Amino acid sequence: LDAANSVDHWKKTVCRYCGIGCGVMVGVKDGMAVAVKGDPQNSVNEGMLCVKGYHLADMLYAESRLKTPLIRKNGQLVESNWEEALDLIGNRFSEIRDTHGPDALGFYGSGQCSMDESYLYNKLFKGFIGTNNVEGNPRTCMASAVAGYVSTFGKDEPLGTYDDLNKADVFFFIGANPAEAHPIIWARVLERRKNAPNTKIIVCDPRETRSTDAADIKVIFKPNMDLALLNSMAYVMVKNGMHDRAFIDQHINFQEGSEGKSWEDYMSFLEDYAPEKVADEIGVPAALIEQVAKLFGDKNRETMSMWTMGLNQRSRGQWVNNLINGLHLITGKLCRPGSTPFSLTGQPSACGSVREVGALCHLLPAHRFVANEQHRKEIADIWGIPADRIQPKPGKPLMKMFQATVDEEIKGLWVMCTNPGQSLPNVNKYRKGMEKCFMVVSETFHPTRTTELADVVLPAALWCEKEGIYGNAERRTQHMAKAIDPPGGVKSDHWAILEVAKRMGYGDSFDYKSVEQVYEEYRRCTVGTGYDVAPFSRLKAERGVRWPVVGDGMGKEASIRYAAPYDPYVEQGIRFYGKPDGKAIVFLRPQADAAEKPSDEFPFVLTNGRLLEQWHTMTMTGTVPALKKIPEYYQSGQRWFVEMHEQDAQRLGITNGDNVRLTSAHGKLETRVVLNGRGRPQPGLLYMNFHDQNPAEMVNILVSDATDPVSHQPEYKISACKIEKV
Ligand code: SF4
Repeated sequence: LDAANSVDHWKKTVCRYCGIGCGVMVGVKDGMAVAVKGDPQNSVNEGMLCVKGYHLADMLYAESRLKTPLIRKNGQLVESNWEEALDLIGNRFSEIRDTHGPDALGFYGSGQCSMDESYLYNKLFKGFIGTNNVEGNPRTCMASAVAGYVSTFGKDEPLGTYDDLNKADVFFFIGANPAEAHPIIWARVLERRKNAPNTKIIVCDPRETRSTDAADIKVIFKPNMDLALLNSMAYVMVKNGMHDRAFIDQHINFQEGSEGKSWEDYMSFLEDYAPEKVADEIGVPAALIEQVAKLFGDKNRETMSMWTMGLNQRSRGQWVNNLINGLHLITGKLCRPGSTPFSLTGQPSACGSVREVGALCHLLPAHRFVANEQHRKEIADIWGIPADRIQPKPGKPLMKMFQATVDEEIKGLWVMCTNPGQSLPNVNKYRKGMEKCFMVVSETFHPTRTTELADVVLPAALWCEKEGIYGNAERRTQHMAKAIDPPGGVKSDHWAILEVAKRMGYGDSFDYKSVEQVYEEYRRCTVGTGYDVAPFSRLKAERGVRWPVVGDGMGKEASIRYAAPYDPYVEQGIRFYGKPDGKAIVFLRPQADAAEKPSDEFPFVLTNGRLLEQWHTMTMTGTVPALKKIPEYYQSGQRWFVEMHEQDAQRLGITNGDNVRLTSAHGKLETRVVLNGRGRPQPGLLYMNFHDQNPAEMVNILVSDATDPVSHQPEYKISACKIEKV
């Protein structure tokens, strides 16, 4: 409070961590960030922050900040300078491009990069170097939600907004633990229930969590049985006349694979999912399935569904996303205040910097596709290059890209603002590839599990040390002001991309003078696409602006047909204009096995997730002492832990705090057991969080690298595993 009362001035910015995108005010005194508070004018968080947000400033001054470029010499990373590092990158990348072709290079970015940074590296690699090997860590986080939206509605990104939180009567969470992973959304949901006591919160999860503890109804289902659970709910709604026949006739086609189906086919498909038939398999009493389905489908209530990694990080992630979208379609519960399917995202700008900017291997800016000739031409015109400079074939999706480093097909890789040396599934396999290739890592801290494998490490400015644009989970594009200077020797990633482009011979096309200039070029890509974003001047003046933005001063009226915040995919009167006939699709998706099933050798399912106080691989939050005060973390020599059910523990002679060995088909590690902690897995399930930085204890050593065939998102959430006391 003393610091807050004595600041020189406050600057408006956005939280650096999760996908909610809370507005943050940074108090600056004598050039230092000395105070942080929630921005009361930002409707996202209405002045609130979670514990990570309140400690945002601490990491700026951590001892492990990297302040000068590092270059590997004689096997060791040694301090260097920007000239030497940038020249080396420019020369090596050019040499690889010229000797082995552009596809021997790749870029792995992040939903924590700003939109201007992502736009620049996407343009450099796809438009100038000539490879579509551009991926980002949102592939690991919400690619299945994208595939679900696009296949269902014909367009990507959520239909609803956070405004729906103030209107919904039923909140249906599945595959999400918002009390830990999306705390401000959770606070707003609890607030809604307080203000409207008839509100019901349903949380479906294979574990009991802080979210299930506070829910009105908890549904603890067996791992991987969500396809059956959602089909069973659809059965109940249809049997009880909760579907909206007029909406279905007007707005929906039914489909199985690529084959068209009828309403009758759909009803007959659902027969196999009558609750009494599938209750045992799902692990949920039939009466409970009926109860939640009837609440969801209640015609007198508005229903908002929210989900995240529990559904997305699956080898059938697209299917399960189709089913949850389908529940809203058959009941007509969408495109109106309080009723919407809403995929929560993991990172602050995963939507803006990767989906919207098009920084995945099959995309171009404003949700265009590299495979589409017209799209390539439109973007090539803006980039000032011939259309045939952009390859029509998608690049390698995430796991294939890292496999290509193992196979030495990709010989040069630039990693920015992410930590694949810890965060990839089956991580030890892909660490070998990172060691083999010429790897550049843009990072703020050193060492991380990725910088330790790098050939060049570039010290990156953090959060409020640079200006930038973020796009959050509700289509809100937000401006982040630069509040303070980075430490000497540290530069923004934006600047580093421009410098590498110059050294590779593309300087004339990367002669940008400001973030505004880059953003306005991106905005030109969006005009008339339905993804039209607001002018930079509005973003600076306001607390973010949700797209689509109509009549934006670009010299012509954007061609988007509506301005209501609820329906970015529909024309007035509801027409899903991303689909040729304007109709959305309800898919018939059967229950299906995960890639790995428990067996005699590996009898448990291992899953993983977050804790409230930590973020991802802890490269940032791990530098903040206050955030390490997690009770479980300190219980036993600061070791991390696996959670399991007491019944399984008793059977195996394991007690709280015991050391155990976990083994999967991919690797093994030792950790300790916590019983009855914040998360309580059901029998047969083990749970670890993915924050542990200890090279021998990272959960991803054990995790399956199987992927969804359409979204290419890895199945982090289900791996077959064994546990033994040691
Ligand atoms: Fe808000 Fe998420 Fe940041 Fe917490 S971590 S302050 S919930 S954006």
